[in-house]
Amino acid sequence: MLCLAQTNDVPKDRLGELPQPWKEPIHRISFEEYDATLKYWAGQHPGIFTFEKRGESHDGQPVYLVKITDSAVPNEDKQVVLVSALHGGPERSGTTTTLHLIEWLLGGSDLAKETRRKQVVLIVPIANPYAFFTTDRFTNKQKIDLYDPQISYWDLPKLKLAVPQRTPELAAFLGIVDEYQPEMHLDLHGTGLQAFPDDKLGDRTMRQGQTMFEISACSYSNCGVRPWDPRVTEAMVQAGAAAGFGSDRAEADAQRCFYNPDHDVFRSRLW
Ligand SMILES: [Zn+2]
Repeated sequence: MLCLAQTNDVPKDRLGELPQPWKEPIHRISFEEYDATLKYWAGQHPGIFTFEKRGESHDGQPVYLVKITDSAVPNEDKQVVLVSALHGGPERSGTTTTLHLIEWLLGGSDLAKETRRKQVVLIVPIANPYAFFTTDRFTNKQKIDLYDPQISYWDLPKLKLAVPQRTPELAAFLGIVDEYQPEMHLDLHGTGLQAFPDDKLGDRTMRQGQTMFEISACSYSNCGVRPWDPRVTEAMVQAGAAAGFGSDRAEADAQRCFYNPDHDVFRSRLW
């Protein structure tokens, strides 16, 4: 029997022998590149791709809405789908995914063509341009998280924003929801710089090698959030597995009761 403790040839620097993907920087898309890419797609795909400015952040950066559909087919009977990445800035791969989705939707596959004939796909790749292009923090310039604003920013009985001038990016996003009333909204989260504290952000270069497990249709920060029938979620899990991406299954935990203090209001009904 030989174990490492008995040998003298332990390499001095084991870390140095391993692949070090984190030394490779990831290209940071600039506003100019984002803007030029949308204009390029509009020029390449007339009759399918349009985009428009729906609002702007406190510092004047535009919130763009992309619309993809086959304009030769009337919209009346089409399904409307809204896809966003409300946590980008810092969760940068959410935005990357929306851009890949656009590329796929503009492609020549039978499924992409069918999707364009049957659906109006609305995409907001960068809902919070101040977070994405300027800070890589979750909030807008007035320190409000668009994905999860405090309750005081909502007028919930009226389903409106209480102080829309403080959340202009969210006002732009809700304007899209109100106008199109989509049958489905998919919000993509992801990896990025969210876990880096302010004093570790440096020049905000993201590096290769970050990864996280796939999880759909549940938030582990609030396991009560299950927006769809579990069969829809399972179809997403199966499609991911078929494409080579294993997934965690929040629904496998569904029989457990996750207590947190928010559930106190239900205490008299549950136990
Ligand atoms: Zn997130």
